[in-house]
Amino acid sequence: MENQTVKNPYYSRTDKTKLNVSNAEWKKILPTDLYYVAREADTERPFTGKYNDFDEIGEYYCAVCGNHLFRSSSKFASTCGWPSFFEADKEGVSYKRDSSHGMERIEVLCKRCDSHLGHVFNDGPEPTGMRYCMNSVSLDFQRDSEKK
Ligand SMILES: [Zn+2]
Repeated sequence: MENQTVKNPYYSRTDKTKLNVSNAEWKKILPTDLYYVAREADTERPFTGKYNDFDEIGEYYCAVCGNHLFRSSSKFASTCGWPSFFEADKEGVSYKRDSSHGMERIEVLCKRCDSHLGHVFNDGPEPTGMRYCMNSVSLDFQRDSEKK
C-alpha cells in the first residue's frame, strides 16, 4: 500500500466483485507509474522493480484493486529483470492475445479490474513450464508474518 497516494475506493483484498472503472477515473486515483503500466500496458524498466530481486514469504496482490494474484512459493529467480512466477492464482488472472510490438505474446491481466500485469511465456521451470513475467509496480506484497 506504500504506492497509494490518494485513497483508492476500489482496493479490497476480500471483495471479488468485477470492476468496471474508466481509465479517466483510474488516472485520478492511481500513482502515475502504476497508471501507465496497469491501464496503458507500459512496461517498467528491467532490474528496477522492487520485487525483481525479492524472496520474502507471503502473498502478491494486484496493486490496482487488491485481487490475489500469486503466492511467493511460485516465484522463482529469473534473469529477465522482472519478478517471475511459474503459477498464478486461477481466480486472480485472465489472459489476452497480444500482437503488439511485432511479437506474439500472451498478456496477463487482473481478473477483477482488467489491469495489465505483464506477459506469460512457456519457458519457465517445472512443474508448470510457465514464466509469468510481471511488473513490480503492478504488485502489492504482504508478508505472512504481517497477516492477522
Ligand atoms: Zn486488479
